[in-house]
Amino acid sequence: MKSSLSIETKLPTHGVSVFSQIAALAARYNAVNLWQGAPNYSPDQTLIDSATEAMKAGFNQYSAMTGVATLREALTEKIATLYGTRYDPETEITITAGGSEAIYATIAALVKQGDEVIFFEPAFEVYEPVVRLQGAKPVPIQIPLDRLKIDWNEVAAAVTPRTRMIIVNTPHNPTGIVMEDEDIAALTAITRDSNIIVLADEVYEHVIFDGMEHRSMCRYPELAERSVVVFSLGKTYHVTGWRIGYCVAPADLTSEIRKIHQYLVFSAPTPLQVAVAKEVSRPESYQRLRGFYEQKRDILTQALSTSRFKLRPSHGSFFVLASFDHFSDLNDFDFAKQLLVEKGVGTIPLSVFYGHGAETGMIRLSFCKDDETLREGGRRLSTL
Ligand code: GLN
Repeated sequence: MKSSLSIETKLPTHGVSVFSQIAALAARYNAVNLWQGAPNYSPDQTLIDSATEAMKAGFNQYSAMTGVATLREALTEKIATLYGTRYDPETEITITAGGSEAIYATIAALVKQGDEVIFFEPAFEVYEPVVRLQGAKPVPIQIPLDRLKIDWNEVAAAVTPRTRMIIVNTPHNPTGIVMEDEDIAALTAITRDSNIIVLADEVYEHVIFDGMEHRSMCRYPELAERSVVVFSLGKTYHVTGWRIGYCVAPADLTSEIRKIHQYLVFSAPTPLQVAVAKEVSRPESYQRLRGFYEQKRDILTQALSTSRFKLRPSHGSFFVLASFDHFSDLNDFDFAKQLLVEKGVGTIPLSVFYGHGAETGMIRLSFCKDDETLREGGRRLSTL
């Protein structure tokens, strides 16, 4: 059916999410899934049992708009232990329908028409359209693919009196870079005495390798007082389809974010919040992630060691970039399509992480997959 209405699209340069597009193609070619940042293994049975018990115990209606109290309280303790800042569960922590909803609510609440928002490309696909929907101007700063380091001089030069927000993402999807002390120092200096909000996407906080430390904005009082920090429960507990995440921010920022959150979803799924609350108080459940995923990164790296791909170092997240431009002239979209059709492997062309396209010569591989999938994917890619 097609309506006879005239519709002016609010997102003229956006189509269906690349994640949905690749899902359809991957299903058609029965491809090994190295594309999506979603695990293909189950969460702990105890978590599933807890969710079932919560449903049987009657936790099936809306939770508090701000989230289940026991979960918010457990998160206060966790963040205080890990990052040294005590967020008030009543006024500074909000449980959301995934990290993406937290990002949407934060930008919608705090960015106005005419504002400018700085973020870093390649970028996760949610930031730019949400900025645009507010009538604000997206200001992408390029992360050079040969160095994979943020050039903070370029950021400083991009700041204007209209800059309302800087969006950072550490560990970073899709490059796997993580912020270090010099990045924190530069961000602190650039935002000092300004009215700039920092939106920190830290959904991969526990997925960090090579002995590196996660530098959460929550750790640094000067940054914390101007930051909204977004975390994911789905990524930490292998339940990305449960759609639960949370954001923490000073009370005045939180109260604005909640004004949007309450009209978007009102509350995140209640029984799933109840189930996860128990896990949050058991540090082992997230402490083991770093070793678990480091091993998976290494299995994929090993499986590709005799391939023609050049892998970039990944210090965190579920992802590693692989370059192919030294042996193929295809653009990355056609190259990823070739891998699907001819090799039966789904990957993501890096150009989709750019608002205006880009010639990258790289694909993103996801290693949050069972070991057999990683080995099989590596084997197929090595026949190229
Ligand atoms: N964040 C994940 C990724 O980057 C999944 C996104 C999605 O499937 N919508 O792959």
